[in-house]
Amino acid sequence: MQTCIFCEIRDNQKESIITEDENAFVILDKYPSSDGHMLIISKNHSTSMLDAEDIVISKMFLLAKRMALRAKQRLGADGVNVSTNIGKEAGQIIDHFHIHVTPRYATPKKGFLVHKELSAEHAKDLIKRLS
Ligand SMILES: [Zn+2]
Repeated sequence: MQTCIFCEIRDNQKESIITEDENAFVILDKYPSSDGHMLIISKNHSTSMLDAEDIVISKMFLLAKRMALRAKQRLGADGVNVSTNIGKEAGQIIDHFHIHVTPRYATPKKGFLVHKELSAEHAKDLIKRLS
């Protein structure tokens, strides 16, 4: 069986977790669409939202709301996209249920390059600001 990268992060990369609750944890997207792009990831492995429990889905969207607020308050985002992809045709890359919280800025952040791998240094700073 192939290892799931999100299960691997849940089990072995605690330092990359911004915050968590009983159902889910939050990390930064490694190839962000915008500065501060976060992923809300279910603790139990389900392939997508369609095979996750209703209560888990509800709680995860509440966590997404909390992180969207932090993006506005702490990163100065002007808007935020909250979305989940179901199936590869919809852009789902990792087959483990997650919600994207993507901050949007009226003025593009200086030096930000879309989908460029996040540096360890910048990740550290963002985790500190968003925790
Ligand atoms: Zn998984």
